[in-house]
Amino acid sequence: MRPVEEGPLIGVGASPGIAIGKAYLVDRKKVEIPRFSLLEDHRIPEEIERFREAVRRSQEELREIRERVRASLLEEHLHILDAHIRMLQDRSLHHETVRAIEQERINAEWALSKVLEKFRKILLGAEDDYLRSRVADLDFVGQRLLRNLKGEVQESISTIRKQVIVVAHDLSPADTAQMDKSVIQAFVTDMGGRTSHTAIVARSLEIPAVVGLERITERVRTGDTLIVDGVRGVVWVNPSSSVLEEYLRRQTQYRVVREELLTYARLMAETRDGYRVVVRANIEIPDEVESVKRHGGEGIGLYRTEFLYLNRTDFPSEEEHYLTYRRVVEEMAPRSVTIRTLDIGGDKLPQAAQAPEESNPALGLRAIRYSLKELDVFKDQLRGILRASAHGKVRIILPMISGVAEIKQVKEVLGEVQEELRQRRVAFDPEIPLGVMIEVPSAASIADLLAKEVDFFSIGTNDLIQYTLAIDRVNEHVVYLYEPLHPAVIRMLRAVVEAGHQAGISVGMCGEMAGEPLYIPILLGMGFDELSMNTLAIPVVKKLVRSVTLRDSFELTQRLFTFRTAEEIRDEVVRTLRGWFPEEWDDLAAQEEILRTLRA
Ligand code: PEP
Ligand code: MG
Repeated sequence: MRPVEEGPLIGVGASPGIAIGKAYLVDRKKVEIPRFSLLEDHRIPEEIERFREAVRRSQEELREIRERVRASLLEEHLHILDAHIRMLQDRSLHHETVRAIEQERINAEWALSKVLEKFRKILLGAEDDYLRSRVADLDFVGQRLLRNLKGEVQESISTIRKQVIVVAHDLSPADTAQMDKSVIQAFVTDMGGRTSHTAIVARSLEIPAVVGLERITERVRTGDTLIVDGVRGVVWVNPSSSVLEEYLRRQTQYRVVREELLTYARLMAETRDGYRVVVRANIEIPDEVESVKRHGGEGIGLYRTEFLYLNRTDFPSEEEHYLTYRRVVEEMAPRSVTIRTLDIGGDKLPQAAQAPEESNPALGLRAIRYSLKELDVFKDQLRGILRASAHGKVRIILPMISGVAEIKQVKEVLGEVQEELRQRRVAFDPEIPLGVMIEVPSAASIADLLAKEVDFFSIGTNDLIQYTLAIDRVNEHVVYLYEPLHPAVIRMLRAVVEAGHQAGISVGMCGEMAGEPLYIPILLGMGFDELSMNTLAIPVVKKLVRSVTLRDSFELTQRLFTFRTAEEIRDEVVRTLRGWFPEEWDDLAAQEEILRTLRA
């Protein structure tokens, strides 16, 4: 038995839940790369052929895994494997590797590793977390290729038969997708972040996971006892009996809370005095739809389509848009799906976009501005969305709208695209609702003018707060100023709801604020028609809505406008909620904590 560890190891909670079990180390160490020059001419075609053979073998392996995953009913993860298979077919990867072998006269492993390193640098240079985390996918594909080039055998997660907690330097989404939930209790890795594909798959499989632990593979051996707390992002190695006992208690409590909350999934979000608010989900990939249904989402309030554009060197085709959205629309039917047009640019550039670097990306060529500049890219997406609208209820929402002119321009483009489809005799919903995100202060202050142009509003508080308070939310020096309850923010929210309602359109919220229990009574009191949030928050929010009245919520909200600082407002909210739920307050606070870790 190894000595008991002092304290827990801290990482990033990638998928919630608490697991207690035995460690199983999976070797995913980096392949050593042999380096030598090709002195004889005939070695060049040989190395090129070896490279091609490794690509073929890697593709076969991934396809086999895909088949196995399909058999074990984990189909929803197929697209990630497809993305990896596509990466293996990437033309520039092939051309550049072959060129390096030919021109630099070096062996295939060396040539490939140079090309991978170059691609890696491009991705790592991106400021956006999400794009940077795509490096992991490149690494998985690269390591598989390199292993096959060297003829090394890959250990498969799917052959594990006893209950264990998998410990690895890094895991590919292919590894995660093969995990059998009845065997793999949890996994922990040195690498990774919350937005990696691996983390997304873990969440949708509901396997607890902590990633980004940096050196857990050096601290743990197979057979060690581990506690994995995916809620708080901590791992205990060989814990003391008192820690173990505490976690057994927390594990039970967590299960009870989740189970109890799931009973709210089937219920409507209606206050005690009969006010109905529509509760929808925010998603990024089609895989999430099943989880949305299980958690009681009444449709998709925000489908962030960026996922489709990232991690690739070309733009998605009209057909790809269509097929992807159609799947979501059909699986979600008869509920509606709100598809947001590309919200990218500035710090989130797809590799396919050859845009100049910007010194202030958050204020740059983002979102709708990018779409209106790159009309071909925009039209492909609009055609895909429109065609999907023939298969169920679809709404279009536009990101980062700052004025009426942009909406007019979009309508013109949309009209052209609709006309084209009519001529092609392709079906679509001619009445498809068009909405805008209210996430730029200028849009909020002319909400009355915008409301005349569109069918619905959804407030994106993540950006609206950032732009209103002039706080870069990824800058740790000013993050303390990021405050949803700032008087300026709540005044703005109230004004947007009123402007929307005066024009007779629905007003929703899809920023993170909409999924936080503490803010729910305020949002009800302001009269929001729809709240859209991360899937796991849905049952909690439904429960809270069902426990309050619109009248009390309205009164609380009115009171808040008499205060001058966010602190006073927050104190009043906490004081009031404590008064409403004296017994459940601790539970609510615990749920808040759980939810905070679930936020993207
Ligand atoms: C927002 O800004 O609040 C929002 C929902 O959009 P995103 O987080 O994708 O920018
Ligand atoms: Mg936004």
